[in-house]
Amino acid sequence: MATVPLVRVCERCLNEPPALRRPKTGEKICKSCFYDVFETEVHETIVSTNLFHRGEKVAIGASGGKDSTVLAHVLKTLNERYDYGVEFVLLSVDEGITGYRDDSLETVERNKDQYEMNLEIVSYRDLYNWTMDEIVATIGKKNNCTYCGVFRRQALDRGCVKLGISHLVTGHNADDMAETILMNLLRGDTSRLDRCTEIVTAGTDSPVKRSKPLKYCYEKEIVLYAHFKQLDYFSTECTYSPEAFRGTARAIIKNLEAIRPSAIIDVIHSGEQFVLQKKTKNRMPKARTCTQCGYLSSNETCKACVLLGGLNASRAKIVLDTEPAPDQPSAAAISRSLERLSF
Ligand code: SF4
Ligand code: ZN
Repeated sequence: MATVPLVRVCERCLNEPPALRRPKTGEKICKSCFYDVFETEVHETIVSTNLFHRGEKVAIGASGGKDSTVLAHVLKTLNERYDYGVEFVLLSVDEGITGYRDDSLETVERNKDQYEMNLEIVSYRDLYNWTMDEIVATIGKKNNCTYCGVFRRQALDRGCVKLGISHLVTGHNADDMAETILMNLLRGDTSRLDRCTEIVTAGTDSPVKRSKPLKYCYEKEIVLYAHFKQLDYFSTECTYSPEAFRGTARAIIKNLEAIRPSAIIDVIHSGEQFVLQKKTKNRMPKARTCTQCGYLSSNETCKACVLLGGLNASRAKIVLDTEPAPDQPSAAAISRSLERLSF
């Protein structure tokens, strides 16, 4: 019986001993070939989509976590290697989550020096007069990520506007994208399904275009890259667990990946090939201005103001009631706010 020879050298350079099996392709490669292939794939994504232009100022949504830290590191490396001529700035959001965001922001502060980039931090406290800790104390842990997601999106926008920047890059990776495709498919949300695979999105409720240069990078490779390069990142999970539906979609994608590693990229490619009927595309909302805060919105009132309305009503009720029943006013106001949102 023929024996399979043991691979003792990197399958790419045929020189160095292999240091890892590449999660995306199964190739056994050395560290330097891994860096090279990982960075080159990001560069090819950037070039093939004309993502940046010379002289552009771009904000990197920086949380201190592995994705955005790898993104900042790789963009700095590629900007220097290929002379993109782009100025990158770190932009962070302080949601006000004790024991999580306060620690991760310390990492971003160090990244600022390590990558020689300016850093801007915007906070929920300054923008909305609420922290996530206070929001969770008011509404409980059920819809907290909905609030956090709506506020973060607008906070990043406002940070960009403050900096005079109209392009924000985020660290969304291939696993995130596959999960989102699956979630939109399962919810029958066809207009989001159409948009969620695009590398650049420019909503009607935002003056800032958003892009995802790591959309084809596997999470496992991002972790390996950060580990081998010894990048300084923060790995603790948020104290408030992510919503159950996304968690389930994540588990499905991870299970599929374990059986068939190409499943992640296959889901993305399938999502990219969906062609929506014209009538679905025509349902896209028109841009207008929020009647309460004046910010861009696709509705009369922006999503952040709808949610703030419910929160502030709860706060006022708790303060005014002589015998407060904190759960009841909060729950009613919160569910009214959520009902008014058109996700
Ligand atoms: Fe915000 Fe939820 Fe993420 Fe925590 S897990 S940072 S609450 S979106
Ligand atoms: Zn508003």
